[in-house]
Amino acid sequence: MAKQKVIVVGAGPVGSLAALYAANRGHKVKIYELRSDLRDPSTTPLNFTKSINLALSERGINAIRHAGSKSLIDHVMMSTIPMCGRMIHGKHPSGELYEESQLYDVHGRDIYAADRAELNKALLDILEKMPNVKFYFNHKLTGADFKRKVAWFEVQNSEKSSGKSSAGRPKEVEVGFDFMLGADGAHSSVRYHLMKYTRMDYQQEYIDTLWCEFQIGPNRRRKSESIFERFLISPNHLHIWPGKQFMFIAIPSEDGSFTCTLFMPSANYVYLEADTSKLPSFFDHYFPGVTSLIPPKELIASFETNPHLPLINIKCKPYHFSDSVVILGDAAHAMVPFYGQGMNAGLEDVRTLFALLDKHEATEESNDPANPAPADPSVQRSAALAEYSAVRAPDAHAINDLALQNYTEMRASVLSPAYRVRKALEEWLSVYVPRLGWQTKYSRVSFSNERYSEIVAKSEHQGKVLTRVLQVLFWSPLVLGVVGYRYWRYPGQPSMLRNLLGYVGGLGRGFRG
Ligand code: FAD
Repeated sequence: MAKQKVIVVGAGPVGSLAALYAANRGHKVKIYELRSDLRDPSTTPLNFTKSINLALSERGINAIRHAGSKSLIDHVMMSTIPMCGRMIHGKHPSGELYEESQLYDVHGRDIYAADRAELNKALLDILEKMPNVKFYFNHKLTGADFKRKVAWFEVQNSEKSSGKSSAGRPKEVEVGFDFMLGADGAHSSVRYHLMKYTRMDYQQEYIDTLWCEFQIGPNRRRKSESIFERFLISPNHLHIWPGKQFMFIAIPSEDGSFTCTLFMPSANYVYLEADTSKLPSFFDHYFPGVTSLIPPKELIASFETNPHLPLINIKCKPYHFSDSVVILGDAAHAMVPFYGQGMNAGLEDVRTLFALLDKHEATEESNDPANPAPADPSVQRSAALAEYSAVRAPDAHAINDLALQNYTEMRASVLSPAYRVRKALEEWLSVYVPRLGWQTKYSRVSFSNERYSEIVAKSEHQGKVLTRVLQVLFWSPLVLGVVGYRYWRYPGQPSMLRNLLGYVGGLGRGFRG
């Protein structure tokens, strides 16, 4: 394909990876980012706290793997910590504290704790070395004409970058492009302008939960070199204190600390904000053991200093207009963080999009060998973007819904016997009857690249089959007893047996469906 002028808006993890994919295809890439360079220590991190730790899993790793830089994936994975499961923390009625490890995967696969800022920095470092990539930090997208392919950016931080017009107003620059990739996060400006050009369905929802960040410090009592001894609790788990209506989680960091998040309805925040001295006893009641890991003073200080931030769920479609623009990552599908998939899905967007761009480029060029005229890149890109919106929207919507449902699972269901029975049965089938292709929903989401929408369909089917099998196991002794009794009392009347066989036949069809 002819080399194009590609603009990426947003240098977060998704925008940076998209820029790398575009640059590796030889396009001229310009990256516009609202904030200053996050590698500059004076830059305020996103969300105004220490950089958040997140769970990186197969989809994100696979997208990075396909970026065309072996050193990148090695570098990213080297600074991650494998997490083999959830560690559930609680208290027995006797008052004794307990920890219970629930493995994520019966086949031993892990997800990885990663520092979002470090991952982002690694991508920026690689991009910076590429001759066809240019950064424009402190540039805020303020407008776009997707028919004429022109965008406007306001130059921010005027003192540093002398981005003021002579009248003292922020300077605005006009930039032409062939193709814009909008990865400017949940409150995307690209999405806002795109809505004026396409009939976009749009739905946003704030859930009644706020989040606040805390820290469990490293183990300072032991001066050992052993990685395990640097941590106060297991470094290879995602720790959960399920509080039914609330949840406190902890994800390990390389330095031995844990980044923790309190998820709680807004009314409880209001209650605790009114008198923060209640915080330690609140934690002792709902999250037993935390105050021995975070001293009460620090707990209160973090609660008072760190922001209490909302959680948004956004669904929209389509994601593109003509051949000129497409939105990716949180800009297209911000989701609540309870499946640990927001960034993973965003990175997967990039891989999916470029696979389609490559496919359409190859198809259009090889379709007509008799015609020597070069294929029109805008026609190819239009077709690729249309297919991208059609394919990706059902998947993004599926993971948005799963993420919402998983909040209930993490804060409450992990304690329920029904949840544990289903998990154990599905894992048993996955190990002992592999030809059935049976897997837990969590495994399919976190350890495969299967489409999210297909995972939902498969998981629903598995659920129905399991329910029927359990029904049969429950009812069959009773039914056989009644049938036996009827045979014994009224020999020669086989109608009940026929009915039973009919029912079992129906089940057989359910299994194959
Ligand atoms: P962002 O990271 O939001 O980046 C957007 C960039 O665009 C920013 O740098 C911003 O400054 C820039 N920008 C914004 N507006 C403009 C503009 N007008 N002009 C120019 N630039 C602009 N995901 C996971 O996969 N696993 C997890 O475990 C996980 N945990 C999470 C925990 C919490 C508490 C939260 C809140 C999120 C979590 N996520 C997780 C989600 C993950 O953080 C996001 O999905 C991911 O950061 C999205 O990346 P992005 O590049 O699309 O957007």
